[in-house]
Amino acid sequence: MLELKDRFGRKHDYLRISVTDRCNLRCLYCMPEEGVEFTESENVLRYDEIVEVVETGASLGITKLRITGGEPLIRPNLDGLIARLSSIPGITDIALTTNGIFLAKQAKALKEAGLNRVNISLDTLDAARFRFIARRGELKRVLEGIEAAADAGFDPIKLNCVLLKGVNEDEIAQFLKLAYERPLHVRFIEYMPIGHADENWRNHYLPLSRVLEIAEQEGYELSRREQVRGNGPSDDWQMAGAVGSFGLIHPISDHFCSNCNRLRLTADGNLKPCLYWMDELNVKNALGDRDAMKELFFKAMDIKPENHEMAAKLADNALSHVPTERRMSQIGG
Ligand code: SAM
Ligand code: SF4
Repeated sequence: MLELKDRFGRKHDYLRISVTDRCNLRCLYCMPEEGVEFTESENVLRYDEIVEVVETGASLGITKLRITGGEPLIRPNLDGLIARLSSIPGITDIALTTNGIFLAKQAKALKEAGLNRVNISLDTLDAARFRFIARRGELKRVLEGIEAAADAGFDPIKLNCVLLKGVNEDEIAQFLKLAYERPLHVRFIEYMPIGHADENWRNHYLPLSRVLEIAEQEGYELSRREQVRGNGPSDDWQMAGAVGSFGLIHPISDHFCSNCNRLRLTADGNLKPCLYWMDELNVKNALGDRDAMKELFFKAMDIKPENHEMAAKLADNALSHVPTERRMSQIGG
């Protein structure tokens, strides 16, 4: 059986697929409020094309997928794509990352189509602050989406909370309480300096050691737990007596590259070996030619760097490669 192994011996079995770079929100850590240029619709990979890329990846040992974006639920008939992907031999796990706004309507159909897991982004529990961070949309819709996902039988449900200094760090205790009381896994995520995030990032980056400090102050008895089902680099914790749990994703203060198992496919058809760097390979050129596409997967392994070096940026140190110009909404997180 062929497999995807990079120069550092890391086996790759996980593909994150951005199905669109468009979004109904404008989260301040991800996109500017106005003036975002999107990929022309005719240049976005069609579902048939995504299926072809995944079939090729699956023949090389890709078993796990995550559908992301932009906002994946704005793409019509996403359940149809999930159904097709879930029937590809070798694909055993399909997850979705969504902002949750359109989830209430689609949760049941997505589950029936074969979606295994869902992550919902939620950075605040306060309606006015939601509007400040996401600049559009309503918190209420996201909360309804979380309920609908639970009713549809998704388990675990993970909440992605990007912590921002001076914006939502005062809600850490409330998020911990939520994980204590409800069967939810809250994933606190460090703000990453992707694309043009520079100035904002320097002002709002918060190391996640803060979460453990607050958990102790709040009196929770903590123990490390086995990773909650998933494929990510999360450092997971249990609070004694809690129904849910929480995890820390700290790409900057404690980078997770040594276990990296992932490749990314952008909405405009580029395979990205690493989230942070500019290098990418255009798979559109290889559509219709399985061998050529396999070669691109292998090439992605050959050029994948050892680390992302986001921490070097914090210290203003020189970088070994050129960072991507893409925004997180174009890469998919
Ligand atoms: N629109 C969907 C959503 O928000 O869940 C999926 C795409 S979004 C780019 C995927 C994840 O990346 C979200 O959980 C979001 O919070 C996170 N994200 C976006 N920009 C980020 C940044 N600069 N640093 C850390 N996480 C970021
Ligand atoms: Fe949209 Fe997700 Fe980016 Fe927010 S984080 S702007 S919801 S793509």
